[in-house]
Amino acid sequence: MIPVTKPFLPDLQAYHAYVGSIWERQWLTNNGPLVNELELKLKAYLGINHLLFVSSGTIALQMAIRALGLTGEIITTPFSFVATTNSIIWEGCKPVFTDIDPETFNIDPLKIEAAITPQTSAILATHVYGNPCDIAAIQEIAHRHQLKVIYDAAHCFGTKYKGRSVFAYGDISITSFHATKLFHSTEGGAVFTADPELLRKLSLLRNFGHNGAEDFAGLGINGKNSEFHAAMGLCVLKSIDDILDKRRLLSFYYWRKLNGLPLKYPKLNNDLDYNYAYFPVLFDSQELMLKCLRALENEKIYCRRYFFPALHTLSHTGSGPLPVCESVARRILCLPLYHTLTSSDLDLITRIIFRVRNYELEQPETALADAALEVVSSNAG
Ligand SMILES: *Cc1c(COP(=O)(O)O)cnc(C)c1O
Repeated sequence: MIPVTKPFLPDLQAYHAYVGSIWERQWLTNNGPLVNELELKLKAYLGINHLLFVSSGTIALQMAIRALGLTGEIITTPFSFVATTNSIIWEGCKPVFTDIDPETFNIDPLKIEAAITPQTSAILATHVYGNPCDIAAIQEIAHRHQLKVIYDAAHCFGTKYKGRSVFAYGDISITSFHATKLFHSTEGGAVFTADPELLRKLSLLRNFGHNGAEDFAGLGINGKNSEFHAAMGLCVLKSIDDILDKRRLLSFYYWRKLNGLPLKYPKLNNDLDYNYAYFPVLFDSQELMLKCLRALENEKIYCRRYFFPALHTLSHTGSGPLPVCESVARRILCLPLYHTLTSSDLDLITRIIFRVRNYELEQPETALADAALEVVSSNAG
């Protein structure tokens, strides 16, 4: 069985050692020493001055919206994970979706300006698949209209833009350390800001608004994370360069193997050190994508339709048509990508895609059956 992703599991001995130290201290959560150590090591690794380790990427988004005091409408992308939109609605604001760029699949800055109204307070954009948005264009629009910018950088651990961690951009940037992400702490996330006043607000928000034992600075929530999660993060961080290298090699292997097929890949931003967080492939039709998906599933290879359905088409978000996003969401497929995937796994995956595609061109109706047969006989032989 080949799943779309597998969590990275660090050396068990190293994790045990951290757990042993937790037992000794009997300090399990509430800004403990391992949480502090992880925050320091992440700052050093990322070259970032301020960050807070929190319990999830979703709570990080909600805290960001609160800390900036956003109200009314937030312009956002329909092509992201559902948490991006949900956090806006959860915080009592209205998501206003604008279409995506057909090459990068990130929010299209040219569409943002037309969606701005007197109620607009911010732009919440996702760097999809770890590939940065057009940050300069978004910053310029935000500046001109006095809007705040939040980046959902949940896919971006290890991505650098113009030589800096992409987490350094926007009024606030957030990320997720969920187990399926490239760097993880089982569950978890972080908020980033360069503004010390915002950092202070975020820090209060993370801890119920506590400003000392008996004083509250205002409304807060529980966004803290535990010593156990920090321990996992510290263990995974030791292998991060290895994880990033492996994904780069696997991605290049995929590209080489799929060369010659009329598939599209997101156009990567210039000035980028990319983290190869996902391996998305855009097919020329939904039908062909589904045929590949099913042929792969017959071989117990499971891909994911990241991101389908488009977020503006959900029952609780609904808004008008966004043709580029709808078209991409129907045809996109993320192929398996994780640390322990082998080149022979990739050989099998790409062989199946090649066969479905080639048969499709010759004999559209029988393509799937033939492709499945071919795979069975080639595995047997
Ligand atoms: C994973 C993810 C989130 C949510 O992060 P959690 O830590 O699971 O809450 C938000 N946005 C995007 C784009 C994601 O991929």
